[in-house]
Amino acid sequence: MYKLLKEIYRKLIPNKFHYIIEPYLRAIIYYLIYRGDTIQCNICLSKSKKFIPISFINSKDKICPKCGSLSRSRALSFYIFKYFQNINHNILEFSPHRSLHDLFKSKFPNYISSDYENQFYAQKKYDITNIDVSDNSYHLIICFHVLEHILDDGKAIKELNRILKKNGALIIQVPLKTGKTYEDFKITTKADRLKAFGQEDHVRIYGKKSLEEKLKAFQFNVEIINISKGISEVEKKLYGISDKEIIFQCIK
Ligand SMILES: [Zn+2]
Repeated sequence: MYKLLKEIYRKLIPNKFHYIIEPYLRAIIYYLIYRGDTIQCNICLSKSKKFIPISFINSKDKICPKCGSLSRSRALSFYIFKYFQNINHNILEFSPHRSLHDLFKSKFPNYISSDYENQFYAQKKYDITNIDVSDNSYHLIICFHVLEHILDDGKAIKELNRILKKNGALIIQVPLKTGKTYEDFKITTKADRLKAFGQEDHVRIYGKKSLEEKLKAFQFNVEIINISKGISEVEKKLYGISDKEIIFQCIK
């Protein structure tokens, strides 16, 4: 139901108005229906009766009724504040959730975000395969659920490596399947991509090992981490974080 209403809303409301009215709409729905004391979002800090359940083709998730964040954003927030505490570092995030963008921007003065297709809240519109940024610019780059949209993901990874500082960290998350990465560039229609890759604008679905090897080929030291494991059971329940939030942490 939430998904359907959101699709209708996004078709009717242009992006520039959406960015203005979104917080007010969410606040109205939150105060009317969801405000409570059972769970809490660790991004916007609001307390609610429950998270809103949502189903995707290959997964389920929980949405914060107040800010709209998903489990992966809440897990990422946890991880970043635990391990990346230098507030002077230059941070670039691709296509961030708005509430996460606002939180990071408030804590890290040199945080900046980019979105190529104007779907997310961002200051820049970088083409990830040809980023208009000097070499060795960022200490940390966050690239969650982006590479599965990019036809030439090798070119994107090369660019991310180029603009990352030495010893800097690139943190990637993508949808994963068992076995090897599946891609087929003859599959081009929305319906066929939805069927093959789980979402109509995805161009592949990665296998864990395949992506690890691909990243290593660009001279990264790669560590695959389930960031949920560093979060207690009580906190996972309270903050609506799933048991499996896998990231690829790539050090240059
Ligand atoms: Zn929230």
